[in-house]
Amino acid sequence: MTDTLRTLIFDQSSCRAHLVHLTDAWKQVVSQNTHPAPVQKVLGELVAASTMLSASLKFEGSLIIQIQGDGPIRLLVAECNSRLGLRATVKLADDTQIAENATFKELVNATGKGICAIILDPRNRLPGQEPYQGIVPLAGSTVADSLEAYMHSSEQLETRLILNADENAAAGVMLQQMPQHGGIVSTKEFDADGWDRLKALVNTLQTPEHLNTDTDELAKRLFWEEDPDGLAQRQAHFECTCSRDKVERMLVSLGQAELDDALSEAPTVEIQCDFCNANYSFTRDECNALFTSGPDSPETPPPTLH
Ligand SMILES: [Zn+2]
Repeated sequence: MTDTLRTLIFDQSSCRAHLVHLTDAWKQVVSQNTHPAPVQKVLGELVAASTMLSASLKFEGSLIIQIQGDGPIRLLVAECNSRLGLRATVKLADDTQIAENATFKELVNATGKGICAIILDPRNRLPGQEPYQGIVPLAGSTVADSLEAYMHSSEQLETRLILNADENAAAGVMLQQMPQHGGIVSTKEFDADGWDRLKALVNTLQTPEHLNTDTDELAKRLFWEEDPDGLAQRQAHFECTCSRDKVERMLVSLGQAELDDALSEAPTVEIQCDFCNANYSFTRDECNALFTSGPDSPETPPPTLH
């Protein structure tokens, strides 16, 4: 099976594990750009992480991981919604050279000013309601290290993350202590050594095995002695949520003067989606119509392209 997310509960140890293995969905993300291998690896790891973190969403909406970098990578965005629709994008600094063996730190935290944000964005936000956003300075030498540090500081949850990606697959294992022992009703006795034992099992995972093994098989190999309860396996897919309607609202928020400027240099305004490369084209008449009619008057709250 491809593109699966599997969740396991270790009742006695009060732990939970998510396993994700993305191939087709990840290749669709990769096909949208031609970034060098070290950049693809970082992006793939972030996509795997966002898919696992989205498994804990308690509402319909999206989980977005954003890394603002201070090196060759300026911005990394990986987003996964509660239906496991995922998308991702990277922005590189202009005229940047990326070494074949560039590390995560060199790519995004060259001068220690990188920032990591996790945003929870409900689908039907109430007027004036802001998405929840947690922001921490980037700490750590890998995507996994940085997110572990984030989870520790923001959620106070002990987390062990293993992330791997190449051009064909993006894979992750996320082991977490449950918020509180006894959170799950159990008739079995609490196993105080469970966390350390599970962490040791996860730490044995090597990159090639991880990238080439689906979640079903990997769950068996890693945890066969632990007798976990498995929740239903879920299917992830590539999904971009851009639309002409959203682009129109973004153009309205830019203002008519800005569009007139653009139209003085070209016959149409062209907007390209960063996530799926879809192109939205607006003629002068179409631009003018945005400001003269319809429900999308300039009083609507500032929207985004996506
Ligand atoms: Zn799009």
